[in-house]
Amino acid sequence: MTNIFIGGAWPYANGSLHLGRLASLLPGDVLARYFRAKGEQVLYVSGSDCHGTPVAVQAIQEGVSPGDIADRYHGEFVECFEQLGFTYDLYTRTDQAFHHEVVRELFLKLLDNGHLYRKTVLQTYCETDRRFLPDRYVEGDCPVCGSRARGDQCDACSTMLDPSDLGNRTCKICGNQPVERPTEHFYVSLSHFQDELANELESVQGWRDNAVQMTRRYLEEGLQDRAATRIWPGAWMCPFQASRIRKFMSGSKRSAATYPPASSGPRKRAAAGSPFGARVRARLRLIMYTGRTIFRFIR
Ligand SMILES: [Zn+2]
Ligand SMILES: [Zn+2]
Repeated sequence: MTNIFIGGAWPYANGSLHLGRLASLLPGDVLARYFRAKGEQVLYVSGSDCHGTPVAVQAIQEGVSPGDIADRYHGEFVECFEQLGFTYDLYTRTDQAFHHEVVRELFLKLLDNGHLYRKTVLQTYCETDRRFLPDRYVEGDCPVCGSRARGDQCDACSTMLDPSDLGNRTCKICGNQPVERPTEHFYVSLSHFQDELANELESVQGWRDNAVQMTRRYLEEGLQDRAATRIWPGAWMCPFQASRIRKFMSGSKRSAATYPPASSGPRKRAAAGSPFGARVRARLRLIMYTGRTIFRFIR
């Protein structure tokens, strides 16, 4: 019997689940059922992403707090999954204390090992609304096609953008012209891992072709250091006084923060007595998926 951990994509709790969003969550459930039917030991885990720009943006639009939005849609998701018969062993949410604690540990470990550094960058700020603006809350003229575009992407020509690329910028909330202000963030030194990962890739076995190709492409383009914190009004996260309002948002939270507490979530089949204790992780097949893309990693 093999131990299989399936880490599903975490849907943003910013709006109802429509068929398109559900379709992107189905592969994990299909895999979980498949491996259980084969008699394997499966732990299938996911939850609602209650942080992030989509939740903040929805809260601004409705004039309520991000927590109100997250509560509403997390509840709706849980009910929806129950009615549709999804077989999560545990489905939780990212704003629980357990997740914060895991992310805090991860943050400090990265810092201790020299993989995080502080960097001051310019970020769009609205002096009327007195807040830094999420990229998609800045609008302006696309530098490529001239259409009116958002700060993250032009829908007319699909170019990925940065708010500073736009001409005639306006704040989507109030319509006034925003300014740029310096703000400090933590960055993850992904570039430190370039050589090590390139060597690792040469010796991997059993990965699917798409996983190998995508990993190779990222390495050939050169790994870019990524911002690990974001402005997040009212939220805890970064374990430093000066950065209290920042949210640590490395993509790795999706895997690291999912290991479940035994006492929470709508489904508790993975509760006390779970075979997935520390000693089992020595021989664990790990499957992460998002949308229709499934990556299989074996360790
Ligand atoms: Zn464009
Ligand atoms: Zn504004």
